[in-house]
Parts: sequence; structure tokens; C-alpha cells
Amino acid sequence: MAVDNYSSLTVDAIQQGLRSKAFSAVEIAQEAQRFCEAENPTYGAFLSFCAARALNAAEAVDKKLADGEDPGALAGVPIAIKDVILVEGEKNTCASKILENFVAPYTATAVQRIEQAGALVIGKANCDEFAMGSSNENSAYYPVKNPAAPDRVPGGSSGGSAAAVAAGMAPLALGSETGGSIRQPASFCGVVGVLPTYGRVSRYGLSAFASSLDHIGPFSRNVKDSARLLGVMAGKDPRDSTSAGAAVADYVAGLDGNVKGMKLGVPKEYFAAGLDPEVKTRVEEAIAALEKLGCEMVDISLPHTEYAVATYYLICTAEASANLARYDGVRYTMRSKNAETLSEMYRNTRHEGFGKEVTRRIILGTYVLSSGYYEAYYRKAQKVRRLIYQDFKNAFAKVDAIVTPVSPSPAFPLGAKTSDPLEMYLSDIYTITSCLAGNCGISVPCGATSEGLPVGLQILADHFAEDKMFRLADAYENR
Ligand code: GLN
Repeated sequence: MAVDNYSSLTVDAIQQGLRSKAFSAVEIAQEAQRFCEAENPTYGAFLSFCAARALNAAEAVDKKLADGEDPGALAGVPIAIKDVILVEGEKNTCASKILENFVAPYTATAVQRIEQAGALVIGKANCDEFAMGSSNENSAYYPVKNPAAPDRVPGGSSGGSAAAVAAGMAPLALGSETGGSIRQPASFCGVVGVLPTYGRVSRYGLSAFASSLDHIGPFSRNVKDSARLLGVMAGKDPRDSTSAGAAVADYVAGLDGNVKGMKLGVPKEYFAAGLDPEVKTRVEEAIAALEKLGCEMVDISLPHTEYAVATYYLICTAEASANLARYDGVRYTMRSKNAETLSEMYRNTRHEGFGKEVTRRIILGTYVLSSGYYEAYYRKAQKVRRLIYQDFKNAFAKVDAIVTPVSPSPAFPLGAKTSDPLEMYLSDIYTITSCLAGNCGISVPCGATSEGLPVGLQILADHFAEDKMFRLADAYENR
């Protein structure tokens, strides 16, 4: 018995292999560890591994199979968890020096649910520090390389999760997204990435960046696997008051390929100046393919799109400055040794522990919340956020979904944007709008540029309409 095609396994293939006894869950866990440890030095996708945890979970799956019990919807499936999502007893560094030795005291609800469904948590994925970034170059440890083009970034902030799936290290991964951090790296690496509706997945156990914008969501090699993973994680959690009670459809059962007559909005603001011509062509081809499947295209407008980047960077920095105040050297972070007084200790701990981008955001966020500026910036941004929300509500009154590019360019070379934060921020121009509005979205691979760089098609749907989004993405993928 052997797992000889580990790097291309899907959830279905694992389930079949386990049932037909082609391999055991323990063999998958062992192969996952061997493969990941061999590949990780090349890509830097993981910050740590959870070999013992994965092996224990695999033994439990094998026992259930032997006893004739249902081992769960994700039985024996290896999964990478972004290092901002807590897994009890494992490190949770948020890719920051300030949490270098922090070990999670409890497990996030999303992870608890997927482990109950039999998944094997194999390691903690690299990311931008505290999920702030679009290239994974803000990790305090090492950058991640894009498996499709190792001289290029994998996108961010969930770059390690996307790269782990793209490099064959795990069939599934969890990422987090506040403003593009799942869909943008998915498009850069050529895998599927999903932003669930805000509240769909509990944030309990997700290290907070900007609480009104933070989401946990899946990465996978195909749409069906993300649909299954989201189905397992989704639903109300009493530990997160913002988690939603909305009914969770059987997303996998809904993948019937029938998208005839569905109306898809094409927003003109997402095809304007700044969009790479090859990305534009690939997305237009994907739109033509959806038309061939029977979808009807409708020209729409999301008029407040141009304010999205500014709005996002006021709100997310404000919330980040409050959320990151807890890292003070007193409780669970590292503590500076260069301090005589308490205030020196606070100051030096934060100065030594946080990287440049995180520091920039804390300063900006503190400023926009300060008296005198709160009305001019933070409150104004909240009002514009409402207008962006309304743009989407108006659009979804007319169409079933919206189709756009995920990011204006394909993966860029390592180092290309590190000296220009604004350039970096613009990489999320097509994704941050839906985080502000709270609706769901998916990035599904739609070909590559002439240099072989993956391109993603974005399908956005209304709040809690993940079923429609998955059906469209799956029909496109299997066209
Ligand atoms: N790139 C965006 C930022 O740096 C989004 C990050 C995210 O979604 N976590 O804030």
C-alpha cells in the first residue's frame, strides 16, 4: 500500500482510496509529512508542522473505518492552517516576531469542526505578519515563493496557504481574508480560494486584524473541495456573536452544472485603466465560456469602487490599532530586555516585535481614530462603506452573480512592490470591495499569461448565496 500521487490528491480521491483500502489515513499523514518537509525549503509555505497531531487524527480515522463508523466528510484529508488561526498546543506566530513563541491555548471553531470531520491538520502556513500584506513578503520569518514561478510572490496575505495547495503539499488549506487575502493569492498561485459571506464562518480563534472585515475561508485544487470544506466549517457559533444563523445549504449537492439563464453582472469599473491586458483577455474568455453555458451577461456599475482602497485602509487600520494593543509584552508576547521603566518596556517590546507594515498600520489607525480626525476620516469611511454595500445590493437585485478579474496583474516578482505601499495596496482593488460589503466571492483559475502565470476569475454573489457562487464556479471549471 502506498500513496504514490500525494501531490495531486483531491478530497474525493482520498475518500475513495481509504474506502478501497488503497492506503490508510496514517499512510497519508506520513506521506504528507515527508512530502512537505522535502518541499518546504523551496517554497517556504509552512512556518511549523503538526506531525504528531496529524498522525493522531489519522489513527482515529483508520479506527473508525475499521469499526465500520462514518469517519467524516474530510476523513484523512491533510490541511494547512494559516498561522493566524489557533490550533491548541501548536504555535501561532501570526508570522510576527512578537508572537515567536506563542502556543495556542485553544482551537478555533473552524478548525475544531474540520477536525471533527476527520481532517488532518499538518502544519501552520506562512503569511504576511498579522495578515497585513499582498505578497507574503511581510512575514517576519521568510517569504513564500510562488510554485508557478518561484521568482515571483504567491500573493498575500495567505500566501503560504495558497502555495501549499499549489505545490501539492496539501489538498486543502485555510486562509483568512480581510481585504483580498484569500482570493488574490489563489489567483496568483492558480488554485481555488473562497471568501465566505461575513459571519458564515466563526471567527472564534482567528487572531484579529480588523474584526468587521475578518473572515476564515478555504483553498483547494478544485471548486468541489472548497464547497465541501466550507460546508463543514459554516454555521452559527455561540462563541462568535457576529457568526450568522443563516441556513447552510448542501453546497456539494448543489453542483449540478446547470447555470442556464443565470444573470451575471459585468461591472465596468473592474475592467478600467490599470488592468493588465493579458489578465483582461483571460477573464473575457472566461466570461464568454460562461455565456456559452447559458448565462446571460448584464453590464452593471458599482459606482463607489474608486473609493474602496481609501475606505478600506481607514477602517482596517483603525480596527487593527485597537486589536493589536493587546500585544504589550505583559501577557503572552515576547518582552523587550532593553527597558528600565514600564512605558519603555511597552514601547520597546512593540518596536522590536512588530515589523514595518504592522507599525505603519498601527500609527495610521491610531491617527484616524484620534479626536479631531475621527469625524473626518473614520466616520466618513464608515459612510462610504455603506455606499459600497448599497452598490452591491443594487447590483444583486438585478443579477445572480458578478464576474470580474481577481487582481489587476498576475503574480509580480519578489521585491517589485516592497518599497511602495500604495502600489502593493492596489493589488487588492477588485477584492476589498466585497470585504467592505460583506458578500461572498471565489477565485477560480481561468488560464495563464504567455509567461505561464496563473490568472483568476472572480465570481461574487450576494450575502449567504455561496450555493450560487459554487454552482457557477464548478460549472465553469468543468465546462
Ligand atoms: N492586502 C490587504 C492588506 O494588506 C488585505 C489583507 C487581508 O485580506 N488580510 O490589508
